[in-house]
Amino acid sequence: MARIVVIGAGMGAMACAARLAVAGHRVTVYERGDTYGGAVRRFERDGFAFDTGPGLLPLPAVYRDLFLKTGKEPLEDLVELVQVDPAARHVFADGTRVDLPNASRAGVVAALDETLGAGAGQRWGDFLVRAREAWDRTRRPLLEEPLWPNWQVLAEREPYPSVPHKKLLRTRRAATLAEVGAWELRDARLAELLASHALAYGLDPRTAPASAAVLPYMEHAFGTWYVRGGMRELARAVYERCVRRRVEFVFGAEVTRVVEKDGRAAGVELADGSAVEADQVVAGVDPALLGALTDRPLDGEGDVPAGLAPSGAARFTVLLALRGAREAGTAHRTVVHSPDSAAESDFLAAPGGAAQPRPTVTVYRPGDPALRPDDAHESAVLRATVPVDAGWEDPERAARTTELMLDAASAAIPDLRERLLWHEVVTPDRAGAVPAPSLAAGDGRFLHPANSTRLPGLYRVGGWAHPGGGLPHAGMSGALVAGLVVEGPEFRGSR
Ligand SMILES: Cc1cc2nc3c(=O)[nH]c(=O)nc-3n(C[C@H](O)[C@H](O)[C@H](O)COP(=O)(O)OP(=O)(O)OC[C@H]3O[C@@H](n4cnc5c(N)ncnc54)[C@H](O)[C@@H]3O)c2cc1C
Repeated sequence: MARIVVIGAGMGAMACAARLAVAGHRVTVYERGDTYGGAVRRFERDGFAFDTGPGLLPLPAVYRDLFLKTGKEPLEDLVELVQVDPAARHVFADGTRVDLPNASRAGVVAALDETLGAGAGQRWGDFLVRAREAWDRTRRPLLEEPLWPNWQVLAEREPYPSVPHKKLLRTRRAATLAEVGAWELRDARLAELLASHALAYGLDPRTAPASAAVLPYMEHAFGTWYVRGGMRELARAVYERCVRRRVEFVFGAEVTRVVEKDGRAAGVELADGSAVEADQVVAGVDPALLGALTDRPLDGEGDVPAGLAPSGAARFTVLLALRGAREAGTAHRTVVHSPDSAAESDFLAAPGGAAQPRPTVTVYRPGDPALRPDDAHESAVLRATVPVDAGWEDPERAARTTELMLDAASAAIPDLRERLLWHEVVTPDRAGAVPAPSLAAGDGRFLHPANSTRLPGLYRVGGWAHPGGGLPHAGMSGALVAGLVVEGPEFRGSR
């Protein structure tokens, strides 16, 4: 039995802690905050409740596997998973609306043909077939296996089989998601639909590699799920599973240093000056933060340089308390596309440049009685992807962005302004950047640092490490790190 210290109680760290405890180790989690779950937070006021982190769960199989491997009760016995239908309603810049059914390729094709014109659905369906190829080629290395030592292969090879595009005697293949949209989907609204999947993960479609096609594929193939009671219930279930497996949690305990002894990680120091010895240390925090906790570089030449991973865009979140009941036929999630997607990309790339355009806004209206004081009220969450560092502490900028988002959300919530009781803003400077899932191609800029480090006994887990951000990916990082700790460096991945 090894003594293992885990830094942070985010989802990746807790997923790892539960697995390590089941493998017979003594695991203690030190969390600087006063609760578990990291980004999976909840805000409550006047009987209204809101998920301030992820609004939906993709790829629930990752958490099903966690609960199966760490105990007898399946995930479905601990939380109520609801497959949302439609998966999303899209309101395009030209006003067209379409409801996309959950996890039904045929249903999506039919819905797109009906609203965008014959042939549109087929083009999207054909795109999904190619996206599946990219998924099949990268699923193992980018989700289920530790980062390959020869990660350059993943960085250089584009797994998405783009369609040759002829222009002025030249034949080209789409290298970015925006090019896939323009050249293969050949409809502005389909291109917007594709781009919105990248934006939801904080990626600019103009720079995201074509391999980002796996993101819409994941949603179409495996569905999109809501956790009844709010997404925080998933964090609660993972936390409780950890506690049941005798993982110890110490809250209000900031780790200030990883202690090294004889060339190995040997414990941590805490902000109160105390020290904790350990045989292994698992860090579920941003690698930049982790770098500051150690006395030596954690990556060597040939490792994925930490700086190469995209820092992740941020999210601007507006929480709405609304009077009046949620009307029949309301979609759980509505994506209101920006009227000017090029300007939106420009702003993401260079926030100091032109004026901020109205962003693409995702409106979450969960229809869950647990999130509202009574049936005569409703809670809703608005979310937009924005640059991390754009002066969000300036109240005027925050107010302007809120107004733009409320304007957009009016397309999803009738009479929004009249119904609004109050709103609360979570600016990016409070929530921080959100890491995107690891992607192939793009010269490795979309890969994350490996879970193992050059300091033996120190591992990286969570969204800022391989295989990247998002609930499923962070959950997988927990499985990978547990595998590396238990089986050693020869561990080649979980199934
Ligand atoms: C606004 C927002 C929206 C999101 N939307 C989605 C979405 O739609 N879909 C999706 O899949 N994902 C989404 N995510 C991302 C997802 O929530 C995370 O990728 C996932 O929860 C994994 O988190 P993590 O394991 O990296 O830990 P984190 O959530 O980053 O938690 C890290 C923890 O470590 C603690 N910590 C940090 N430093 C120290 C220290 N020195 N000592 C002790 N403790 C420390 C922190 O307090 C924190 O609790 C969103 C995130 C945010 C913030």
